[in-house]
Amino acid sequence: METISVRNPATGVLVGQVKTAGPAEIQVALGRARDAQKNWGRRKFTERAEIIRKFHDLILEKSGRILDVIQSETGKARRDALGEIVTVAGTARYYLSHGERHLSPKRREPAVPAVTDAEVVYKPHGVVGLITPWNYPFLLAVGDAIAALLAGNAVMVKPSELTPLSAELARDLLVESGLHPDLLTVIHGPGQVGSELIRGVDCVGFTGGTATGRKVALAAAERLIPFSLELGGKNPMIVLEGAKLDDAACGLIVGAFSNSGQTCLAVERVYVQESVFEDFARRVVERASAMKLGWSNAWDIDMGSLISENHVEKVTRHIDEALQAGAKVLTGGRRLDLGKAFVSPTVLTNVPESTPLFREETFGPVVSLFPVRDADEAVQRSNDSEFGLNASIWTGDHAGSRRIAQRLDTGSAAINSTLLIYNSFDVPMGGVKQSGLGRRHAEQGILRYVQAQSIVSSISAGGGFDAFANRLDRPSRVSRILKGLRILRKMNL
Ligand code: NDP
Repeated sequence: METISVRNPATGVLVGQVKTAGPAEIQVALGRARDAQKNWGRRKFTERAEIIRKFHDLILEKSGRILDVIQSETGKARRDALGEIVTVAGTARYYLSHGERHLSPKRREPAVPAVTDAEVVYKPHGVVGLITPWNYPFLLAVGDAIAALLAGNAVMVKPSELTPLSAELARDLLVESGLHPDLLTVIHGPGQVGSELIRGVDCVGFTGGTATGRKVALAAAERLIPFSLELGGKNPMIVLEGAKLDDAACGLIVGAFSNSGQTCLAVERVYVQESVFEDFARRVVERASAMKLGWSNAWDIDMGSLISENHVEKVTRHIDEALQAGAKVLTGGRRLDLGKAFVSPTVLTNVPESTPLFREETFGPVVSLFPVRDADEAVQRSNDSEFGLNASIWTGDHAGSRRIAQRLDTGSAAINSTLLIYNSFDVPMGGVKQSGLGRRHAEQGILRYVQAQSIVSSISAGGGFDAFANRLDRPSRVSRILKGLRILRKMNL
């Protein structure tokens, strides 16, 4: 068993240690999770909900401690850490209010009205494995776990080895709320620990990069277990004539620079109509260059550090390669001497299509502005990406924005906002193309943690449906059936 030392990426200070799990420990934890799940899966939704309700209240009560832990292992600003708590609380509230209805048996159209019946019931998978990244370590460790637990599963979480402490704290708070400790296990270690987990669980929820997501999909396919993938993005924003430019500039600052740009939904490309390009760019630069950077628990810090020096190198490499190829810096564009992993909020123009910054997910505080003739060009260029997670639209005309939204190849689109989808719990959130498979939130976000079982029945009188089918043994009966089918079609039944 090895030890992972966790350091604050902003300061380099050691903030905690955890032990990695080997294959034997994972097997033991899986066995315990399976045992605990048997009883948990039989409990009523309302009993499970009671624990999640307590957890909801507890995370608000202990928000100070949670914020400290999240900030200490990510280096992020306190406001960004608060966003994690707010979203976990929102997810809990949503599934406490709607989860029982989503999971309740549903009557469906039967094969033969009045003679047969059909319904769908939902059963937990058993043990759900959640493999999570470092950018929102509290939210992503526990947000999806809430739905999986309420659906009657046990959960095993494998957080990023860079940020194991928030997941540990989330587990402790769930246990303090009354959850049996074996129903939410946190196992630590690098990617191989995630692979090992996939070999044992009954369903996988993966959040992370596209390359790893592909490996997870292959491993899950090998075992034919269900999986969902919440992957990366290169999210476009569209700003057209008629938009309130100050609001759009403010939206872009939130969309591109909150969480230091390390958000799957972050805006990385902005298509701005030529007639308002200069004006919009000026407003964005004014706001970006006025941002307050640093690491502390003060609420007025706008942007914290990146997750690691390695990640700073990746982000600054994207910037430097774009600059060498002819891109122009409007503001930022460099590493800052505020600690170990700070990059200034960066706004670029003239980014050539040949550069990694143009096509790949940068996942840092960097955004590129591109002038476009009109809405058609903005849509066409937004769709010119292998990713399809989220988009943001600002036109000043709601109906026009909706029409643009529907032409975009993305799993979600926000009008007059950038990141709103993450707090809109009653609509599914997820990506198309290389941005993922499956959805979190809404009905889909809880139904992915259950198997649908269809139960159909027939009346027993006269031998029921099967005996009837068996009596189709002469032409007159067959022709009556065919006539009946024509009538049913005409009646739209
Ligand atoms: P990674 O894909 O590198 O890692 C994600 C998790 O997978 C980590 O826990 C990692 O462990 C683990 N892992 C690595 N290799 C394997 C493997 N072969 N089998 C199983 N698990 C493995 O992502 P990052 O941590 O770098 O996170 C950033 C990415 O997450 C970005 O691309 C971002 O867009 C995406 N993301 C997507 C979201 C969405 O909702 N669509 C939300 C948030 C982030 P370890 O790191 O310890 O090696």
